Formats: sequence, structure tokens, C-alpha cells
Amino acid sequence: VQTKLPAVGTTIFTVMSALAVEKKAVNLGQGFPDFGCDPKLLQAVTDAMAAGHNQYPPMPGILALRQAIASKIAALYGHSYDPQTEITVTAGATQAIITAILAVVRPGDEVIVLEPCYDSYVPNIDLAGGKVVRVPLTPGTFRPDFDKIAAALTPRTRAIIINTPHNPSATVWTESEMRRLEELLAPTDVLVISDEVYEHMVYAGGKHESAARFPGLAARTFIVSSFGKTYHVTGWKVGYVAAPAALTAEFRKVHQFNVFTVNTPMQHALASFMVDPTPYLELPAFYQRKRDLFAEGLAKTRLKLLPSAGTYFQCVDISDVSDLDESDFCQWLTSEIGVAAIPLSAFYGDGFDQRVVRFCFAKKDETLYSALERLARL
Ligand code: PMP
Ligand code: GLN
Repeated sequence: VQTKLPAVGTTIFTVMSALAVEKKAVNLGQGFPDFGCDPKLLQAVTDAMAAGHNQYPPMPGILALRQAIASKIAALYGHSYDPQTEITVTAGATQAIITAILAVVRPGDEVIVLEPCYDSYVPNIDLAGGKVVRVPLTPGTFRPDFDKIAAALTPRTRAIIINTPHNPSATVWTESEMRRLEELLAPTDVLVISDEVYEHMVYAGGKHESAARFPGLAARTFIVSSFGKTYHVTGWKVGYVAAPAALTAEFRKVHQFNVFTVNTPMQHALASFMVDPTPYLELPAFYQRKRDLFAEGLAKTRLKLLPSAGTYFQCVDISDVSDLDESDFCQWLTSEIGVAAIPLSAFYGDGFDQRVVRFCFAKKDETLYSALERLARL
């Protein structure tokens, strides 16, 4: 077959999770919690099914859930989205991102991605026939470099994809960085896809700077989030997109043909569950404790910790521990030490190796302790 995606193999997350199972390693690679969600959320699913919510929901999602999403965004970020015309429920952030890209990127359009970036962005742009323009985040700090972004803008630029809190680096964009982006794009008609799936995981009292807070950005942005991250249910694959009505209309043209609708009982359960803000308001403290517990243990090894300001990831510099490249190191760590991690090189098109790997700390304390016990051998 003539392949449309010659550079694509199996994702690093799948590869490392499979190796972790094979080697009986503690899996701190792929990002997902190893603990359950709130039992009230499970009960809400059972109740929704028992109440007969088992047929197709409306194409953009059930209204109650869209209303709950709009209320949350208004309360947290001060921007009002119309649930009828500006919010769409998606099959996770993954489907939200590819749908937004297919909806607006025409063959030959340039799309800027900031590397390192999540692995689905580039193949998504390729499928749309767009031209990927890779702009590196500042080496070492992973902060956006606005001179480089400005230099990458051309009359062919259709969109830029941003991600804060950032997977894999665990950095969080500041208000002034978001303002810089808003100012930079002001004279252009460039669209933004803002991947905010880790919006509720920002630590040390920091603030999530949603694109919704910035009127000049909100007017041109598809904001993407995912309930999988927020409510510890990554396998449910339910997320959403908030975007101005004109963009949402284009989004839904694709959405109705690539997924049409998202499963009904989960939507009802989420709609009733998310009325109470407590779970997501408590999430930073919940994960910060895990981050700190894990960091305290790692500090006793020769792995050097990078800052983790958000997400459920902790990156470490391996250069004092090993001469292997990141990818080989992760294979070795999984096989020989019994802890799976993800090489940052997987988030770069050219496999750039900076001797840094990513651990996920969305795990039971006992899982983290067991990983730390093994890592103590390093
Ligand atoms: N974007 C980023 C940055 C992610 O880390 C993830 C989850 N790994 C996704 C998108 C996809 O989210 P979902 O599981 O809801 O499709
Ligand atoms: N987003 C998760 C991560 O970065 C993995 C999701 C996936 O397996 N595609 O680890």
C-alpha cells in the first residue's frame, strides 16, 4: 500500500506500556492514573444507563454537558461561550485536535508546532495536507521563543498549536507569554489550537492561563480539554472543544462525519458530576503531593530533576547516570531497573536527544514508592 503517513509507527506510549508489561516493570511511562475515579461518577454512569440514556445523543453533545462546560469556563476564565453554538463534546482531546485541524487546514497551509510536542499533532497536519512548521521551544527551559515564532509566520500560516500545561516538559505558560502570543497574532488571521488537557494540574499556587482569558486569542482559538485527565478516566475518551461560533460551525462539519456523536451515558454522568467544582479545584493539591513525594525520592538518585510546574509529568536529566541515548536508556531502565519512562526525543520530529526522560506520577503512592525503590539502584 502507498502509505499516507510514512514516518508513523506505533506510538511510544503503546511501545513502552507493552514493554513494561513484558518486563513486569512499574509503568511510569504512558500518562494515565493507576487508581480509580470518584465512585459518585461511576454511580452517575450506572444511573444514566438505567434511566435509558443509551441511544445517540445530539451531534454536538448533550446540552446539559455543554452548559456545564460553558459555566465552568466562564467561572474560571471569564469568557462566555454559547453552549448551543460554541461548545462541542468530543471523543477525548485526540479527536478534538484532529477534527479542528481537518476543519481548517487546507492542502499547503502552514501549521506551526512548538517542539517538543504531543505526538498526534504532526500526523494530523499531514493527513490534512498541511505543511508542518516546527519551531523549537527554548532548549533547557522549554519556554516559547517569540522571536522564532514571529520568524516562522508567513502569509501561508493557517494555525499554531500550543499546549499549556505542557506535555512532556511540565512547563506552564505565563500570562505575559500568552499576551505576547495575542499581540503577535493580532495583525494576522492565524488560528490557534490550544491544547489545555492539563488545565486543572498547575502547582505551587500557579494559574492556568487559558486562551479563553485573552479576548484576542479566544476569538481565534479552538480550546481543547479532556475529562480523562481531570476525572481520572482516560479510557472514557470524552473531551470538548470551545471555539467561536464560526469556527465551531466548521468544526462540527467534520465532527459529524468522523465520529458523529460521543457516547451518551458518560455525557449524562459528566454533566451531573461536573456541577460540583470541588474535584477539579482539589486536583492541584492532590497531584502536587504526589509530585513532591516522587521528587523527594528522585532527589536521592543521580537523576537531575527538571521543574514540574504543571501536568502529571516529571522530567529528569539522565546524563549523570548513563551514556545511553534517551531511547535506549528508557528500554534499559524498563528491562534492567524495572521502571518504564518515556524519552523526550519521541516528541521531536528529528528525534533530538537532550538526555531527558519523562515519568508520570499519576500513580498510587505505593506504585511511586515501588518505582523509587528500584530507581534507588541508579
Ligand atoms: N494532548 C495532550 C498534550 C495529551 O497529553 C493527551 C493525552 N495523552 C491528549 C492530548 C489526548 O487526550 P485524550 O486522551 O483525551 O484523547
Ligand atoms: N497522553 C498520554 C501521554 O502523554 C498518552 C496517551 C496515548 O497513549 N496516546 O503519556
